[in-house]
Amino acid sequence: MSPTIYASSYPSIPLPQTSIFTRLFASQGPGDVGGFPGTATAFIDAASGSSITRAELRHLSLSFAHGLRTHPATRPLAKRGDTVLIYSPNSLAWPVVLFGSVAAGLRCTTANSAYTSAELAHQYTDSGARLVIAAEAGLATVRAMLALLGISKQEADRRIIVLGRDLRWAGGPSVKRSPEAVGLLTMEDLLKGGQLDQEERFDGALCNETTYLCYSSGTTGKPKGVETTHLNIVGLLAIILVNFPALQPHDVMLGILPFYHIYALTQVLHLPLVLGLPTVVQTRFEPVEFCANIEKYKASISLIVPPILVVLARHPAAEKYDLSTLRYMCSGAAPLGKDLVRQVKQRLLKKRTPGDDLVIVQGYGLTETSPTTHILAPADCDRKMGSIGPLLPNLEARLVDDDDGNVDAEEGKPGELWVRGPTVMKGYLNNPTATENSITPDGWFKTGDVAIRDKEGHYYIVDRRKELIKYKGFPVPPAELESVLLTHPDIADTAVIGVEDIEEATELPRAYVVHAHPERVGTEEAKALFAMSVAKWMETRVARHKFLRGGVAVIDAIPKSAAGKILRRELRDRAKQEQGAS
Ligand code: AMP
Repeated sequence: MSPTIYASSYPSIPLPQTSIFTRLFASQGPGDVGGFPGTATAFIDAASGSSITRAELRHLSLSFAHGLRTHPATRPLAKRGDTVLIYSPNSLAWPVVLFGSVAAGLRCTTANSAYTSAELAHQYTDSGARLVIAAEAGLATVRAMLALLGISKQEADRRIIVLGRDLRWAGGPSVKRSPEAVGLLTMEDLLKGGQLDQEERFDGALCNETTYLCYSSGTTGKPKGVETTHLNIVGLLAIILVNFPALQPHDVMLGILPFYHIYALTQVLHLPLVLGLPTVVQTRFEPVEFCANIEKYKASISLIVPPILVVLARHPAAEKYDLSTLRYMCSGAAPLGKDLVRQVKQRLLKKRTPGDDLVIVQGYGLTETSPTTHILAPADCDRKMGSIGPLLPNLEARLVDDDDGNVDAEEGKPGELWVRGPTVMKGYLNNPTATENSITPDGWFKTGDVAIRDKEGHYYIVDRRKELIKYKGFPVPPAELESVLLTHPDIADTAVIGVEDIEEATELPRAYVVHAHPERVGTEEAKALFAMSVAKWMETRVARHKFLRGGVAVIDAIPKSAAGKILRRELRDRAKQEQGAS
């Protein structure tokens, strides 16, 4: 029997077969940059208020590209197809170095700015990057990472480009550089020498070349490089528009999600340029700053994750500041409960004039699908609250009831969501086995998430089959934590799972560990002390979002199948009982 395939209910959209840079910045007439006046504001630095126009962004990007291509230090490492790693918190300089690297034809791999040197080393080596563009604050980690890989200091100095927080940062007379930055090439140095006449073209068949390498653990294992192509991104920027609200003249986006993650990379850095929407860049999420910035910049649109709604529902700052301009929020990256949406709407609308509206919708996707495959339409935000919305145009979906896709889930019943279409990644970098395990020969990408589709074609995520844990929207691959835990001299075996924290609308990583010398943890007290020491030990080895906030429990053996696979569901059930008992 042929499988049930759900096509998007939207008509297909013709997708431009072009490069990202051309899509964003091509001039359609005098003074025009990508369909909007070059004088229009593109990005604003929340802290300083300094801003950059579309024309300036294009010019600086092409100048950065020129610098990469011609500077004697970077020239050998910045040929078309080479990979550069970007390691920085959000800043106004971020779009310049990103689009500059893209214009030079480089692949960009983007890393969480909280990564430790060991975490960074995995991504740097695996992606094949050589140049690193790093914020000053991250230089010590980058240096430690390069040293860890056995790269001499002299060679390391040739591979680092220092990024300023602000575009005015020039290493000039008034700005003191940190000792780590002395002697290194800066973004400023690369901006000095003129601009590339034209970006590298990736038109026609070339738009299937890889441009971004974000890291994702997929359904299992350690983080892998996701090969995202020009067409994936240009395609996303076309299909996502069907469910984005119509813009009003004074709309401003507040960008707080971390740019390194595909969600913000596409929808805070690229999408506003396609929409002509000025975007305020906040370095990282902090509740008071977030609310203060909404008031200061009269922000009307923000793309968020569920824990930000917790802040809006409960934090005093949401009462203190004027948030009345906020009219549209889209939450993604993790499940969003209806109650939380209701609480936020109630709290924020209480202060507004009747008739004022606040749209809170949910979107869904994965790094591997560039990312968004579903978004709820603003008009359906109340009627379909809790849904991730319908499938976006040009995409198809299946709901599957077995591992191989031979059995469809019954209509209206849960099944693993499979997705097919132009935004599905090319594959995992240098990892054909992982690619084959996640994309079928006829192009279906297996999400590892379990969904239900209602009669009107709206989808609901109801469960996750894969190992992944999401802490406040940040991916935490259990296999990665397990491999770190196994380097502990007293841990013989381990398994990490996610436990729910309903209050904070998130999951927390929780480790089960088996002591290498069980006789040393014979009492409950000894177990508790050991568990505490393990949690502390991890805090010196992994980025903050991977801390074992769900606790550590010492057990006799990790439950495993006959084939040696960790029985995570059993551990999740156990954790629920333990949570209930405590
Ligand atoms: P990432 O690759 O970091 O974007 O993580 C993708 C995963 O995040 C998905 O496979 C889901 O498990 C989860 N996710 C993203 N959006 C949602 C959502 N709206 N509801 C539930 N889970 C989500």
